[in-house]
Amino acid sequence: MLYFCPSEIMKVTQLIAEAKETIISFEILPPTKGKSIESTYKHLDPLMEFNPAFINVTYHRAEQVFKKRVDGNFERVEIRKRPGTVGICAALMNKYKVEAIPHLICGGFSKEETENALIDLDFLGIKNVLALRGDAAANEKFFNPHPKGHRYAEDLVKQIVSLNNGRYMEEDILEGAKTDFCIGIAGYPEKHFESPNMDTDIYYLKRKIELGANYVTTQLFYKNEHYFNFVEKCKENNIDVPIIPGLKPLTNQRQLTTIPRVFNVEVPVELYSEMMKAKTPEACEKVGEEWLLHQCRDLLKNNVKVLHFYTLGKPQVVYNVLKQLF
Ligand code: FAD
Repeated sequence: MLYFCPSEIMKVTQLIAEAKETIISFEILPPTKGKSIESTYKHLDPLMEFNPAFINVTYHRAEQVFKKRVDGNFERVEIRKRPGTVGICAALMNKYKVEAIPHLICGGFSKEETENALIDLDFLGIKNVLALRGDAAANEKFFNPHPKGHRYAEDLVKQIVSLNNGRYMEEDILEGAKTDFCIGIAGYPEKHFESPNMDTDIYYLKRKIELGANYVTTQLFYKNEHYFNFVEKCKENNIDVPIIPGLKPLTNQRQLTTIPRVFNVEVPVELYSEMMKAKTPEACEKVGEEWLLHQCRDLLKNNVKVLHFYTLGKPQVVYNVLKQLF
């Protein structure tokens, strides 16, 4: 098996600019606490056959849960169900010689904690990050920033850019070492659910780019039309950074309702009715596979240079699609 093996650490924008063929990339979640990193390798090993140029690793903020004490009262405790984002990135770079991209979120972090996390990443030789706001905490209705943290992803972008310029939070650090992060951000072909309309959402997307973000990775979508319209709208607004399409197979009937609820995206009628006709789990997976294959072929026909796969849950379906494409 031939793994993508960069001779130097490469930025996503560089990888895209220099690519002679379609770039494949994956997104994974850290394993739930208690599982070993072997579960991540088991998930990724077969997919490495397709030489991904980079692998994103999501970040999961802590959740507040109530635990019953021996005296019968409840106490509020904070737990992180999926720690390990940075450790997994380092492990992937070491094992597979592939660029690993940690997701960084505003939620739950003070600016100082973010700065320290960025210093860790820099020392590990990680040159790519995806800067996100994060969603509301599990027990909250709306996103509330950390009292000493950032409210929007654009503020996180600003902080990373400052560090790239050697400017640290402590003003007495003069001529601080400059980091060199390539900054990805999130984009929403069907608009972010909190945004009143697409134009407003694009306005804030553009701000993140003007502040220094280098490329966009999109929310998943099942209708390519949404992606093409989004790219067009970005062009009209003079957004000229790469816009990487995010793709996730829909593989069972339950997801027909959970995916629109969780990700605020449309499930096209044709996909819905084909999935409803499927009688077994295998038949459902086949429907999801066919749909993803069709989406990918259409994207490639339209000269899309990168296909980014959310591999959670069903890496085999992504594997089958890639096997038929390449
Ligand atoms: P922002 O860019 O801050 O936008 C949030 C909302 O505020 C939007 O409606 C926007 O239009 C609006 N807005 C932006 N700036 C301003 C401003 N200055 N003033 C007023 N309104 C503004 N979540 C995780 O917790 N962990 C992950 O690993 C993770 N990975 C993701 C990967 C991808 C590719 C995507 C698409 C999403 C991911 N998410 C993840 C989810 C993401 O955190 C949520 O969608 C979150 O609700 C918004 O994040 P954002 O970075 O787009 O926020």
